[in-house]
Amino acid sequence: MGEYSDAKLPDLPYDYDALAPHISEQVLTWHHDTHHQGYVNGLNSAEETLAENRESGDFGSSGSAIRNVTHNGCGHYLHTLFWNVMSPNGGGEPEGELRDRIEEDFGSYEGWKGEFEAAAKEAGGWALLVYDPVAKQLRNLVVDKHDQGALWGSHPILALDVWEHSYYYDYGPDRGSFIDAFFEVVDWGEAADQYRKTVNNHEG
Ligand code: MN
Repeated sequence: MGEYSDAKLPDLPYDYDALAPHISEQVLTWHHDTHHQGYVNGLNSAEETLAENRESGDFGSSGSAIRNVTHNGCGHYLHTLFWNVMSPNGGGEPEGELRDRIEEDFGSYEGWKGEFEAAAKEAGGWALLVYDPVAKQLRNLVVDKHDQGALWGSHPILALDVWEHSYYYDYGPDRGSFIDAFFEVVDWGEAADQYRKTVNNHEG
């Protein structure tokens, strides 16, 4: 993140209709082009305010701008991860060292999945699978908005957006069906890359 308004909306790593019927072209279009773009704009605007206030020496609006950096910056970061951990060729179960680690830390894949789904039903924002570098273990997190329920230092390796804008148009109030749909498109290869990146930093 630069000092001054330079965040950019990344392109989706696939076409807008690529995840249908699990996630519709309409929802991906709105979600990416309107919602994610809104977080990028909000982040840049808040960064601009902070830079202007440092210049002028009037810090009156800096406290709320810092809050806006966190809200919009976490929104930008988690949406980017969310797009990347889905794929039209996704689905199935994790393999290799991530699979082994899930079994070690949660007892079994089913033990992890049941807990992650419970997190996704509970959250007012996101369910996350993270690596916690303090305890040196994987954890599931319940996140409200984009940042409430964050665990300091932990690195998200899988993110599921359960804001209503993520599923209501496709599934109405049936969030469980949307969670099932996510598992039809989840890209475990990308999640394994995220896991390797962080675990090598802390256990390598
Ligand atoms: Mn969203």
